[in-house]
Amino acid sequence: ATPTAIMVGTGMGARRGVLFKNAVALETAASIRTVVMDKTGTLTKGEPEVTDVVTVPGADQGEALRLIAAVERQSEHPLAAAVVRHAEGRRVPRADARHFENVPGHGATAVVEGHRVAVGNRRLMEREGVDLGRLAARREELAATGRTVVIAAVDGRATALVGIADAARESSGEAVAELHALGVEVVMLTGDNQATARRIADQLGIDTVIAEVLPGDKAAEVAELQRGGRKVAMVGDGVNDAPALAQADLGIAIGAGTDVAIETADLVLMRSDPLDVPTALRIGRGTVRKMR
Ligand code: ADP
Ligand code: MG
Repeated sequence: ATPTAIMVGTGMGARRGVLFKNAVALETAASIRTVVMDKTGTLTKGEPEVTDVVTVPGADQGEALRLIAAVERQSEHPLAAAVVRHAEGRRVPRADARHFENVPGHGATAVVEGHRVAVGNRRLMEREGVDLGRLAARREELAATGRTVVIAAVDGRATALVGIADAARESSGEAVAELHALGVEVVMLTGDNQATARRIADQLGIDTVIAEVLPGDKAAEVAELQRGGRKVAMVGDGVNDAPALAQADLGIAIGAGTDVAIETADLVLMRSDPLDVPTALRIGRGTVRKMR
């Protein structure tokens, strides 16, 4: 690698807020064949908002929200924060939760005023032995619109669904189109459920979706895509994404993301703009061309 080409590439990136941490990252960017993108906070804004609350007949919405928010107030998950904000906006009275337990990739459980409350995805409900009953069809409908659906069970019975929307970033679709134009495969990787992820992927033009991935399994999914020596970049923002960023040939962190993601990555997108992913690959290709 000629030092001049590296300097030019690094400088071009820096002017656009595309920060390559070293020369190897710049060269690797040229050989990327697959870009894996985390959904929440990377392709989407990571600003979840409650859009729907559905309860089973006979259950009071305010009361259901009161129990759900009591659990979510103790969770650090972004979805939990959205639920709590919604409950507070509706002036739902507070309740105290005890024996709180966070179940990574599933949700959370606690005891609220003597009731066992579980809040999370289908996988959590399976663990809890909860049958969705008449909420199952509504859950599917909500997921088909791209909502993340949080299920709440009280004392082992499915009581409510909370639909949560997280808008795609302005330029996500364009970024996918540009990557395709560069001959690069784009894969969405997420812990969210299959139907929700599929809907958002369709809106953005992404073919391949790997959904319902547990936080600890993201790196293994990247390794799987690397089989046969295929060069893979991973773009992410969360603490959960760090092992996958490390596993990838090129780890790319969203600038607005967590410190752990930024420290682990080989490349940081300071503007948090997905369009800077194809930009980074083009800068890499330009640099390598000059080296030859
Ligand atoms: P990701 O950030 O990729 O969506 P997570 O592993 O953090 O993945 O979460 C996976 C899924 O688990 C979420 O989409 C949600 O359905 C469920 N979940 C996790 N934590 C909570 C929580 N505190 N409240 C509700 N649902 C949760
Ligand atoms: Mg994320």
